Order: sequence, then C-alpha cells, then structure tokens
Amino acid sequence: MPSLLITGANRGIGLEFAKQYAKAGWRVLACCRHPDKAEALEQLASQHEGLLNLHALDVANFDQIDSLAADLADEKIDLLVNNAAIYPDTDQRGFGSTDYQAWMHAFCVNSMAPLKMAEAFVNQIASSQQKKIVCITSKMGSIADNTRGGCYLYRSSKAALNMVVKSLSVDLAPQGIIAASLHPGWVKTDMGGPHALITTQESVAGMRQVIEQLTPAQSGKFYAYDGQEIPW
Ligand code: NDP
Repeated sequence: MPSLLITGANRGIGLEFAKQYAKAGWRVLACCRHPDKAEALEQLASQHEGLLNLHALDVANFDQIDSLAADLADEKIDLLVNNAAIYPDTDQRGFGSTDYQAWMHAFCVNSMAPLKMAEAFVNQIASSQQKKIVCITSKMGSIADNTRGGCYLYRSSKAALNMVVKSLSVDLAPQGIIAASLHPGWVKTDMGGPHALITTQESVAGMRQVIEQLTPAQSGKFYAYDGQEIPW
C-alpha cells in the first residue's frame, strides 16, 4: 500500500488531498497544526480507520519536524506533499509599505519548511517505491508570468520554493527521488476565495494525475494541475 505524508491537511487543498488518496486506498499521514480542532480530518480518519492518521505539525517549528521524522522513522513514504502555506494579508499593501516581519514568516513557512521536510524525511522517501516530493507552489511564483507586479511576500516565497524544488531534483536524483513544483490552479479555498475558478476536487484530481505520471525525466519541473508545464 503506497503512503502519503502531507502538511496542512486540515482544510482547503490539503484536506482534499487527504480525502482523495485515502479513498484510493493509500495510507495517509495527515499533518496539521491542531489535530484536536481538525474536525473534518478527524471525521475522515474515522471513515478510514487505520489508513489515515493525524499528526500535529506546525511546519514553522523545525524541532517538531525532526521529532515527527524520528517518530515515523520506520515508515516508507511514497509521496511527500508540501502543501501548507500562508498568504499574508499585508501583502496587499504594495510597494512602499512592505511588511518585513510577515515576509520573514512567509519565507519560513512557504520556502524553508518544505526543504526542512525533505531533509527530515529523505530516508523514508528513498526507501519507498514511488519516491516523490511534490511542493504546491503557485503561478504567482513564476518570474516569467509576473506582468502585474506587487505581492512581493507571496510571490518571492513561492519563487524561492521553486528553486528549492529544482535543487532537490538534482541533489536527490542519485537516490531515485523525483521532485516537482505544482500549481493547483485558482482554487475555492480560504486562500483562493469564493471567486476562484475551480473546486478543490477538480484541482486535486488533476494534480493526482500529474503526480502519478511523474517520471525522473519530469523531475525539477513546474506543472499546473491540468498537466501544462509552467515557465519558471
Ligand atoms: P488555505 O489557506 O485554505 O489552507 C492553508 C493550509 O496551510 C491550512 O491547512 C493551514 O493550517 C496550513 N498552514 C499554514 N501555516 C502553517 C504552518 N505554519 N504549519 C502547518 N500548517 C500551516 O490554502 P489552500 O488550501 O488554498 O492552499 C494550499 C496550497 O496551495 C498552498 O501552498 C497555497 O500557496 C497553494 N495555492 C493555492 C491557490 C488557491 O487558489 N487556493 C493558488 C495557488 C497556490 P491552519 O488551518 O492551521 O491555518
């Protein structure tokens, strides 16, 4: 049975990933900051008893990442999905009013934590069958796609994450690990808002298909949920 480790699994896109992989018969290690308050995830765990387990994880707490990796030392992890991220409200302020404190935190959660997760869990991933690391980034992190400017905090944190993915793809290739960046589309979640174009179901179904088809030749690339390659 393949297994998934995912961050930010209590709501939005992360919750839908947990739902769809559990339904497909995967073992799901679902991480979130407050499992005691993650009602939807708890309900899902009771529907898939033994298959889906909740783990407390604030990805900004690197000691907690290390201790979770130690607790899960005997697991084989076929797929790590680095999904948790933040879009600071103050990013809307624009040039001249940059919130540098919020930027540092966004960098920690959106760019550094995914690398820390890969470093902490590399052995479990390398010992699995599928050996995949997927980082949920955003088209807003594409330099080529940025014609509108602004959103310095979020854009730069996702561009940095894209570079992390590229280096991971090179560094971990000798261990047979594939790393890719995925853009989920503009998705109806707390982050995407009610006017977004697609549902979490549509986004995750598309991303699962892209993930399933990832081969070493696609490692270090950036894809949208519909399989289209996105320029860096
Ligand atoms: P949501 O805001 O709906 O959910 C974000 C998730 O990340 C929540 O589970 C949240 O947990 C978790 N999270 C935030 N900070 C931390 C932390 N420090 N430690 C652990 N978990 C944390 O976002 P989406 O579901 O929309 O986004 C999922 C991914 O998709 C993100 O990487 C986002 O950048 C990306 N994305 C989304 C788009 C969209 O249109 N929705 C577009 C492009 C990219 P908690 O409930 O505890 O806050």
